[in-house]
Amino acid sequence: MSTNASMATLRRQVIEELKNARLDPARYNVTGIARDAYVTGNGSMETWQAAVEKNLYPYLPGDVVRVVVEINGFQEHMYGTVRDFRTADNRMYRRRILTPHSAYVELFERFSGALRPLTEITPEIHDFEIVTDHSEVHRDGPQHNYGLFTCRSGNHGPYPPPAHVLVIHKASGEKRRLCDGCNAPEIRANLGHEVWRYRQHSKDTIRRLIDNPQEIAGPIDDHEARGMRDWADVFPYLVPAEAAAIYTQWKEQHNVRVNA
Ligand SMILES: [Zn+2]
Repeated sequence: MSTNASMATLRRQVIEELKNARLDPARYNVTGIARDAYVTGNGSMETWQAAVEKNLYPYLPGDVVRVVVEINGFQEHMYGTVRDFRTADNRMYRRRILTPHSAYVELFERFSGALRPLTEITPEIHDFEIVTDHSEVHRDGPQHNYGLFTCRSGNHGPYPPPAHVLVIHKASGEKRRLCDGCNAPEIRANLGHEVWRYRQHSKDTIRRLIDNPQEIAGPIDDHEARGMRDWADVFPYLVPAEAAAIYTQWKEQHNVRVNA
């Protein structure tokens, strides 16, 4: 058997083995696995597993990812799809490689894209917790619908199907119930974008609290201070750090006074 023929046979074998392990061959350098596991390696289980780990492409074009983008002075988590890979000096690679330096990401919500080193790119799924337990998803569900929440993707018109999962954006705690069909990267990204949208709507309040964090601890009967505290209760993750610390203190003191 010639080297080429045996490599072709090995590649077919590797593809079968990846499928049997429920791994997607498209995400692997199959030739690399064949070489590392069976040509230079001894074909043992350990060698195979090491070869599979080593030959995984970290991202493929079309993957949905999150990057950090500065918008109006705020560092926002924005989602988009990987378009291509670049070297450190922003050239395209001539072939697919396992360790590209950077990726160019086309953002869903802006007309621009973002070029980022791979170390500053996060797979979108890492940003979300997906709760699948039925009783958890439908806890305190609406009586008028047999206790079942419906899908809130907005993609179903007036009669959405029941929700199957509860998606939680880890960084903010924002939640959305979705059906299985809507539990997709683009729709989860839309939930992740809420942080940026809410921050845009609240940017005047946020800037005031950055300039003067004490405002959040204003008098009990002060209309504006109360407004800020109500806002901080709804969007705790948007409150600037110093104001958040002052508000935590304020709540403790307030409770002490109430309990006294
Ligand atoms: Zn749905």
